[in-house]
Amino acid sequence: MEKFYLTTPIYYASGSPHIGHAFAVIYGDVIARRSRTLGRDVFFSAGLDEYGTKIEEKAKKENKEPRVFVDEVAKNYIEAWEKLGIGYSRFVRTTSPEHKDGVLDFVKRLKEAGDIYEGEYSGLYCVGCENFVLERNLVNGLCPDHLVPPRLIKEKNHFFNLKKYLPEIKKRVEKGEIIITPESRKNETLGIIQAGVPDFSITREGLKWGIPYPFDANQTIYVWADALINYATALGYPAEENFKKYWPVDLHIIGADINKFHSIYWLAMLMSAGLELPKEIFIHGLFTVNGQKMSKTLGNIIDPLDLVKRFGSDAARYLLLSQFPASEHGDVKAEEFDRKYNSDLANGVGNLLERSFTMMIDYRGGKIVKGKVDPKIKEAAEKTEKLFGSHFEAHKLYEALADVFTFIKTLDVYINEEKPWVLSRGEGGQQEKLDDILGSLLFGIEKIIFWLKPFMPNKAKETEVFSNKLLKGELKKGDKLGLFKRI
Ligand SMILES: [Zn+2]
Repeated sequence: MEKFYLTTPIYYASGSPHIGHAFAVIYGDVIARRSRTLGRDVFFSAGLDEYGTKIEEKAKKENKEPRVFVDEVAKNYIEAWEKLGIGYSRFVRTTSPEHKDGVLDFVKRLKEAGDIYEGEYSGLYCVGCENFVLERNLVNGLCPDHLVPPRLIKEKNHFFNLKKYLPEIKKRVEKGEIIITPESRKNETLGIIQAGVPDFSITREGLKWGIPYPFDANQTIYVWADALINYATALGYPAEENFKKYWPVDLHIIGADINKFHSIYWLAMLMSAGLELPKEIFIHGLFTVNGQKMSKTLGNIIDPLDLVKRFGSDAARYLLLSQFPASEHGDVKAEEFDRKYNSDLANGVGNLLERSFTMMIDYRGGKIVKGKVDPKIKEAAEKTEKLFGSHFEAHKLYEALADVFTFIKTLDVYINEEKPWVLSRGEGGQQEKLDDILGSLLFGIEKIIFWLKPFMPNKAKETEVFSNKLLKGELKKGDKLGLFKRI
């Protein structure tokens, strides 16, 4: 069985999950489910990045130990992902002892490769970003993301010799040995390399909430040499069978804001550690809500659990993925959720299934002649299958969903044109024709359910159960599937 190792970003454990976080894990979950359907042996990771100054400070503000603080955050994330039906294989927490062991082993490899050196770093540091910020990126002296003035920091750090690996990364990315999709992001990576990327420090002085750096008692391992290693420790690196079985990563799913750290820093560190590089990095666009960046101050943060409460888990997944093509930046229009739910789910797929099943029960008591499919429908299904498959392979889930909904419309039009309710009153040939139409509808519905299953696993299951009963003749007039109730 072909293995497939798929990762999603580990989010910074400084607060509750919002739909920006949910987006990538739903994305990953859909790809994981489809890959399993195609017979791959999938390992799918998600998790949290739980160390760092910002978390230490947040915990302090709430009068909690950092450990207690991150435990609470992790609980919220795990609960949210469960309610969204995310079937990850492993949820990594970077404060776990297993992760620490992996990080120490990894850093030792970098050291043995001669790629770590001591240096002095001085720069403007934003606690919110957990990173040094450049003077030219400040707005009125403030970090544009956090609206706070950065601190000037001067300290001894241990640096990773990134420069050594840049030519090799450039070569491999250019040659497509590491696939970066979409193309625009690949060009961004190459542009960053072209402009020159300085070495980065992998330790900090005075950072208490983190993994101690084993080669210098005053230093703590700093974000990149800690968080990125999660992709290896999710598999139990350096020990465990899973690492041997699933490494290297087949697909990293990340957001556009962390491209550089994955397509440059991470690749360089893996080369230094002598580990196989990922095959592909897919970078999704970031989104605003109603035209504005999600922020506490603006009060426009959408909690994924609110969507689950209003629409149910499967519909929430659909509503997020069907908002904009992930290869670009997008805007989520909160007031569109209700309209889209009604038009696509209640009146779209829900209505098609309901009216089709009702006719199958009313006219045939569930005895449907399978196999004779109208050539029009067969052709439309084949066309959809092809488009859907190629969009899926390119991780274009928005486009893949649109393919299915085009096919749904085709079936709606088919019913309206063929008017099975007229045929049902006829005799002989008309009854035969009705058999063909109902058979064609069943064929079409089975396709739709197969395509939508990774997106809406529960609704697909419900439909399968209902349709099995129907075909066994166990349903009677008036029995309804009731998949999506209008709101
Ligand atoms: Zn900042």
